[in-house]
Order: sequence, then C-alpha cells, then structure tokens
Amino acid sequence: MKYRKNLARTGNSNNFINEIGQRYGKLTVIAEGENYRNDACWVCRCDCGSTVTVRGFSLRRRDTKSCGCIQKETTANRNRLSANPKKEELRNKAFDLRNSGLSFGQIADQFTKQGVPTLSGKESSKWYASTIKWLLTNNLE
Ligand SMILES: [Zn+2]
Repeated sequence: MKYRKNLARTGNSNNFINEIGQRYGKLTVIAEGENYRNDACWVCRCDCGSTVTVRGFSLRRRDTKSCGCIQKETTANRNRLSANPKKEELRNKAFDLRNSGLSFGQIADQFTKQGVPTLSGKESSKWYASTIKWLLTNNLE
C-alpha cells in the first residue's frame, strides 16, 4: 500500500510541471516538446530569435540558459579582447592550406604570391615558413 502511494505521488500528474511562459536566462518556454526518453522537454524561444528544445530538468537546474548563443557571445568577446582579428583570419587561412596538405614553406609561398599583408601591415611582404609555423602554433590567448 505504501509503495503504491509513493508511486502515485511521484507519478506523471504530480511530476509534470507546466513551464510554459517561464523564463530561464534568455529562454522563454513557449510550448511543450516531445518527451526525450522519460524526460519532459520544452520548446523555448531564445532572446536571439532561435528556438530550441530543452529537457525540463536542464532548465530547472539552470544548465541551459540560451540556445547556445551565450557561449558564442562569450567566445566572441574573448576573441575580441585578446586576439588580433587579422591574425585570427590569417591563421584560419593558413590552417586551411595546411589541411589541404601544404608545408609551412608552401603556405608562405602562397601568401607571398597572393600578396597577403604580413602582420606588420606591410603589403606584398615576403612570408617565411617560420612565420607560418609561428602563426599556426602560437596560442591566441
Ligand atoms: Zn540564442
């Protein structure tokens, strides 16, 4: 008897918390989502305009506070504060070439040929393998 009572107390009807209209960080719950396994899920609209489906316990534990854009903003802010955007751009470019199988020297030749401005800002300067290597291995933090 005791067991049945406990079951009833923790059963679906009592476990179900209506979250519609609740706000969690940047998320506003707008609709009930489909359950994920046995967890209630909620469709939330983020302040940035995206919608995401989040599990109820993630919301209530405050694990999920946005569609993921908070994290993107934080990363963007960090990059803006501590990294030269031009360097980041060059680094990505060099990474792409590196991924396509070019050596540091070949990447340097490509950069020189394309007239990619060096970090000192001089147009049509010569790039060296060592500079590419430094660009790719130097930590932007
Ligand atoms: Zn968002």
